[in-house]
Amino acid sequence: MTSSAAERRARVSAILDRLGVSGDNPGAWAGAPMATAGRRVASFDPTSGDELGAVLLADRGQYETVVERANEAFKSWRMVPAPKRGEIVRQMGEALRAHKDDLGALVTLEVGKILSEGLGEVQESIDMADFCVGLSRQLYGLSMHSERSRHRMYEQWHPLGPIGVITAFNFPNAVWAWNALVALASGDTVIWKPSLKAPLTAIATHKICQQVLDAHGHDGVFGLIIGDDAEVGEAMIHDHRLPLISATGSTRMGRHVNQAVAGRLGRCLLELGGNNAIIVEPTADLDLALRGILFGAVGTSGQRCTSTRRLLLHESIADAFTERLAAAYGQVRIGDPLEDGTLMGPLIDEGSRAQFVSAVRAAVEQGGEVLAGGSVVDSATVLEGSTGAFVQPTLIRAHKDMQICKEETFAPILYVMTYSELAEAVAIQNDVPQGLSSAIFTDSFRSVERFLSHEGSDCGIANVNIGTSGAEIGGAFGGEKETGGGREAGSDAWKAYMRRQTCTLNWSPELPLAQGVRFDL
Ligand code: NAD
Repeated sequence: MTSSAAERRARVSAILDRLGVSGDNPGAWAGAPMATAGRRVASFDPTSGDELGAVLLADRGQYETVVERANEAFKSWRMVPAPKRGEIVRQMGEALRAHKDDLGALVTLEVGKILSEGLGEVQESIDMADFCVGLSRQLYGLSMHSERSRHRMYEQWHPLGPIGVITAFNFPNAVWAWNALVALASGDTVIWKPSLKAPLTAIATHKICQQVLDAHGHDGVFGLIIGDDAEVGEAMIHDHRLPLISATGSTRMGRHVNQAVAGRLGRCLLELGGNNAIIVEPTADLDLALRGILFGAVGTSGQRCTSTRRLLLHESIADAFTERLAAAYGQVRIGDPLEDGTLMGPLIDEGSRAQFVSAVRAAVEQGGEVLAGGSVVDSATVLEGSTGAFVQPTLIRAHKDMQICKEETFAPILYVMTYSELAEAVAIQNDVPQGLSSAIFTDSFRSVERFLSHEGSDCGIANVNIGTSGAEIGGAFGGEKETGGGREAGSDAWKAYMRRQTCTLNWSPELPLAQGVRFDL
């Protein structure tokens, strides 16, 4: 082991120690109904290939305990006045702030995104906490004018119950915050089932926030269940005690979850795969566009739901711009995501690397041409002794009918196509099953309005002179079509976590019926 590899290991173990997630089964701390005897699942650092720690999987019995506790806790939590719930969420935000550096580094360690993105992810959770403090005083209902004299009509919002939150590996902290903190402010309790690829981030996050709940004597408001899909995941989605399942992950998973939850007439909030495009017009600031495209397509190693996967260039600028882009791709620093200067870390695992290889092969078979990258990277050249799944950021000249361009490959592959009219570019952009994020780079006012109009982008997110990824929490986040239709985080996304009640109050001595109906004895 070189001294730098030794130093790295020492740094990693200090981070895990400070967050209380080192050693075997760190989830089994006092008071948490975590497994003590289940199947052991290790969490690996995708950069080095080292085992970071391991958890024992919860079984059906432990799942029952967590749900019962959440159900019981709901009875008292819903009666805590919303602004007081907001104050507790505020304190969680402070606790996350205090642990931001370590928690951000843990995100980097567990999923391989560069440190600045790991820290940014925790910042997103802190921002969510701040947002939810205000939200706790703004759970507004409308009031209406009744058609009947001396009647009052209004609607109010009640907490829904214990909420099931299923999260994807690639945002192991922030997706939880989008859901859990809004649910908490809304008066719900939460049961979190994280991805088995990032269990330590979930345990650390849960511990940090549980300490705040403990200080206020609220047991069972947050539940964490780390188990496999067949035993715990299936139990969750079929559980009629959970009125809402919020699931983030692949479209394949979402389709299955949706059917199971619909079968019991429960509610689903789905945040699924994307296949996001950027359109670049001849009037665009091309320097800006280049930076936006690079971050969107290469950032997080192409492992964001909002990663840019398709680039639509106007034919008049296509050749020169593609050349610049290919040159920029050649300069992307692939390396240890913990180190300053690294722009791209590894893919999450060998399975993802295999999908990268097969997508590049399929693209070439379907008529594509690799313009930059296209290969896997020998991990030993990145970090001594590493077995990580590193690949090159890849640019492929493609045409709109290639089937592979309509699929989401969770890797840094960007398909470049050309167009002649904006209407054609928008049609190509929309002609995929997914509908998450979209962007246009242009200085033309008309093109902007066309892109944002009813005949423009069909996605949940439409940006101008900004790339497809890196959304702020203030807006409602989510997408259409096979992305699932859910909306999370800011704006009025909180309504998904509450039930609406319409109330009509009669303060007259009469009993007039609506629509003039008479029913007198
Ligand atoms: P995945 O679908 O493999 O897993 C997501 C989660 O679903 C995991 O926690 C997994 O254990 C769980 N799951 C799988 N089968 C289940 C079942 N039968 N019952 C209950 N839970 C089950 O996805 P992933 O590889 O972790 O994440 C990558 C995918 O997530 C990509 O498609 C990406 O676009 C998507 N994603 C979407 C958003 C969004 O907001 N739209 C955000 C992040 C990631």
